[in-house]
Amino acid sequence: MQHLIPVDLHSHTTNSDGSLSVTELLTKAKENGGKYLALTDHDTVNGIKEAREVAKTLDLQLIAGVEISVTWNRGDLVHIVGLNVDENNQTLVEELNKLRASRIERGRKIAANLAKVGIHGAFEGAMSYCKNPEALSRTHFNQWLVDNDYAKASNAFSKYLAPGKPGYAAQTWTSLENAVTWIKNSGGIAVIAHPARYNFTRTKLIRLIEEFKGFGGRGLEVVSSSHSQLDEIEMAKLCQQFGLLASVGSDFHKSETYRKIYVGTNKMPPQDTPTIFSELGILI
Ligand code: AMP
Ligand code: MN
Ligand code: MN
Ligand code: MN
Repeated sequence: MQHLIPVDLHSHTTNSDGSLSVTELLTKAKENGGKYLALTDHDTVNGIKEAREVAKTLDLQLIAGVEISVTWNRGDLVHIVGLNVDENNQTLVEELNKLRASRIERGRKIAANLAKVGIHGAFEGAMSYCKNPEALSRTHFNQWLVDNDYAKASNAFSKYLAPGKPGYAAQTWTSLENAVTWIKNSGGIAVIAHPARYNFTRTKLIRLIEEFKGFGGRGLEVVSSSHSQLDEIEMAKLCQQFGLLASVGSDFHKSETYRKIYVGTNKMPPQDTPTIFSELGILI
């Protein structure tokens, strides 16, 4: 069995598109043997204050985080994780509020597009899964489509919600420069989330890395639930090549029986890859 470390630098709650509350998520991380957990909800730091309190009672080290939605290049969606951000930083909070404000409107467009292919009631349906309406996500539509037998869990995204599919509604998020700058100016470290998941060519991924570094970004997620073992090796090499620090994250959203993701723990990045751990005070 692979050696696991008690570190998880990417996770979600009902403050965005996760299905557990802050208390449930942290309790699960602790039960799994976790010691260091970053809460990184999409485009919000709303859960951080509560998470700090809960972490104290569980003797868990909470790292304040966020996962910012970025539109890069010509419409590509990229996620930038911020670690050790200040959840009270005014610019960060205000800009994230603005970013989230467009989600309901986009949700209506997604629902209108689904109605055109005969799927009705998707907006209200998705909203019923969403504890914080301003965080309305494709994840909630995904859940509703699956539960109403329009698709299987394995293909609802590729059938309806991915770019070019009937329910897709294009959305322009913030720029790479803004995301990295907000994170940096609030005292945090910016990390490119699940880099292998974008399916970019190597040239394009390197261009993303170079731009990201140019704005002051420092980390690359090497270990992620979206990555294969080969992806981990490739991403670790890119860390070495571009002087980036390796990060690890379960990207936990909910307990899934078909996929074993243990929030709170991760594999160690491949040997000799410099990690982000010491920057965050993580001692392992
Ligand atoms: P949104 O921010 O509303 O565009 O939704 C993006 C979220 O959808 C991501 O954070 C993932 O949690 C989820 N997601 C993206 N791609 C997939 C996929 N292929 N299957 C299931 N969930 C996905
Ligand atoms: Mn998500
Ligand atoms: Mn992501
Ligand atoms: Mn995520």
